[in-house]
Amino acid sequence: MSGTLRVPSEFEIISRYFAPLAAGFRGAFALSDDAAVIRPAAGHDLVVKTDAVVGGIHFLLEDPPSLIGRKALRVNLSYLAAKGAVPRAYVLDLMLPPDTEEAWVRDFARGLAVDQDGFGVHLIGGDTDSTTGPIAIAITALGEVAEGRMIRRNGARPGDVVHVTGTIGDAALGLGFLRGAFPRLDSISGDFLSDRYRLPPVPVTLGPRLIDLATASIDVSDGLIADLRHLCRTSGAAAVIRSNLVPLSSAARSVIAEHPTALRTALSGGDDYQILFTAPSHAEPVLATLGGELRVPITAIGHIVAFSGQEADRVSVVDAEGRALAPGSEGWTHF
Ligand code: ADP
Ligand code: MG
Repeated sequence: MSGTLRVPSEFEIISRYFAPLAAGFRGAFALSDDAAVIRPAAGHDLVVKTDAVVGGIHFLLEDPPSLIGRKALRVNLSYLAAKGAVPRAYVLDLMLPPDTEEAWVRDFARGLAVDQDGFGVHLIGGDTDSTTGPIAIAITALGEVAEGRMIRRNGARPGDVVHVTGTIGDAALGLGFLRGAFPRLDSISGDFLSDRYRLPPVPVTLGPRLIDLATASIDVSDGLIADLRHLCRTSGAAAVIRSNLVPLSSAARSVIAEHPTALRTALSGGDDYQILFTAPSHAEPVLATLGGELRVPITAIGHIVAFSGQEADRVSVVDAEGRALAPGSEGWTHF
């Protein structure tokens, strides 16, 4: 590390706050070595994903540090879930401005401890540096999947049903609420939505159960429409979704009732960290049982169709009567 932090030295930070998070993972050597060793179970692949969050862009600098830590970990676990992987470990690169208080690091590590226990993962290494910019946190998560079975983006076929887990749009509307966009929203709904922005729920247990069921899968991080477009493009297909089927929380419905353009925010905003996947229609009953067992809402929102050759038609949104909608300044409006 270069530069000095107001907090204790880099080595004290590591031994005080991060080494305890490595306890229980033999190959992490209590963070006393240069690198960690991770051996996947026999017949398994390691699935690797990294995602960084930067203060002022992915979280608010005044957010509680424990929630910042948990969100930084969760965004990575959601990618593993979308790929069908069981999470095992993660690596943390932490870039801190020199005036960071020790209490910030302590609370950040406490948040990580909570989610580590909840999701069954361990910290196995990383790096700590100072920065001239805002706090930045890069986490790399490692998970396991049976050899060759990672759920790809590319298997969606015409006729497959498009599903999404959880509810969509809460985080984007929560950020809008925190920025003062919905001043008349009741505080219970406002708190619910902003909590979803700060601490998105992630369907970690569901992901591995989608192997054998899902034909294609993607994490909803850029926004429902954008991520469905990614999945369709990689699959060489197109999709039609029904706006009235997209699962919305009651808080999101309250916002949309008063601000119709907020439906557009919900469908195209990001940060949901849910799973968007396709499956053949005969999988519906199994998926319904699975969602009930794991208490993860799974909602069918549309279906895959053949690609027309027109990129503009890659993802179509229709209303309850099947009439095409377009994203206009009024929200989703009829053509
Ligand atoms: P190096 O000088 O090789 O970068 P460090 O002194 O930074 O090594 O790190 C010492 C040990 O602490 C290594 O095992 C490293 O993986 C671990 N480590 C450093 N920073 C972090 C962090 N933010 N989170 C987890 N482990 C860390
Ligand atoms: Mg280092």
